[in-house]
Amino acid sequence: MPTSHAPATDRSGLRLMHVHAHPDDESSKGAASTAMYAAQGADVRVVTCTGGERGSILNPKMDRPDILENITEVRRQEMERARDILGISQSWLGFIDSGWPDGDPKPPLPEGCFGLVPLEEAAERLVRQIREFRPHVVTTYDERGGYPHPDHIRCHEVSVAAFEAAGDPERFPDAGEPWQPLKLYYHHSFNRPRMQALHDAMLAHGLESPWEERLKEWKPEPEWDARITTRVPCADYFGVRDQALLAHATQIDPDGFWFAIPRELQQEVWPTEDFELVVSHVASSTPEDDLFAGVTPDA
Ligand SMILES: [Zn+2]
Repeated sequence: MPTSHAPATDRSGLRLMHVHAHPDDESSKGAASTAMYAAQGADVRVVTCTGGERGSILNPKMDRPDILENITEVRRQEMERARDILGISQSWLGFIDSGWPDGDPKPPLPEGCFGLVPLEEAAERLVRQIREFRPHVVTTYDERGGYPHPDHIRCHEVSVAAFEAAGDPERFPDAGEPWQPLKLYYHHSFNRPRMQALHDAMLAHGLESPWEERLKEWKPEPEWDARITTRVPCADYFGVRDQALLAHATQIDPDGFWFAIPRELQQEVWPTEDFELVVSHVASSTPEDDLFAGVTPDA
């Protein structure tokens, strides 16, 4: 177990909530720091906005009619396995996946999907979960969604709205006792400098890089990268992250790009997961290396 390498930090009494769009997003974004905080005693809760009903099967070995027929149930089971591997709790917001709109122009979103639910309605459900779990720290995606899936953009909007409303007794008075989370972060782990560093390291070791094409298309955006405030060292947990990802067997091809870079190389070249502190109601100075910096645990 990686805990033998973990700093002897006790996170008891601290609570972290990650809001994600689909089952598997919790394992592809911030999963190593999630596993680390959980192992150190923090309560970590993932809220998944949709059931991933419209996700395609991205692992050729799982592309079978029996799995496609039961995709919602299969993805629930995958989520349970990932949850247990990460050592966290997880809940659903109960909305329906909007799907990736394919085509030019993009087709309209399907009726009743998460992307079309009024913001207030979705925010109220998340406010209820925030007031129940009472997180000190909340994470979500940036305003671009991390990538432009309509559910990721909506997840960002709903999370920001709920973070603002949860502590206000005038807002959603029927959704529980007000609770104001102290810090709000956006995920920034898919940043270009990281990808470039891993790419360069692969080439330096005479290995084929999975990022060659992607880097050509991805123009440098130094101002965007400068938004990163917080780098959390969590390399000891990259193995746990990989196991959680593999639990989402319909979504993750074990022979695909997720696993194309040797873990040891990742640990050496880029041992952090990266975030942007967007709102803080506690005194904390950036740059920082801990999502809980400045936060006092509950007694
Ligand atoms: Zn997603």
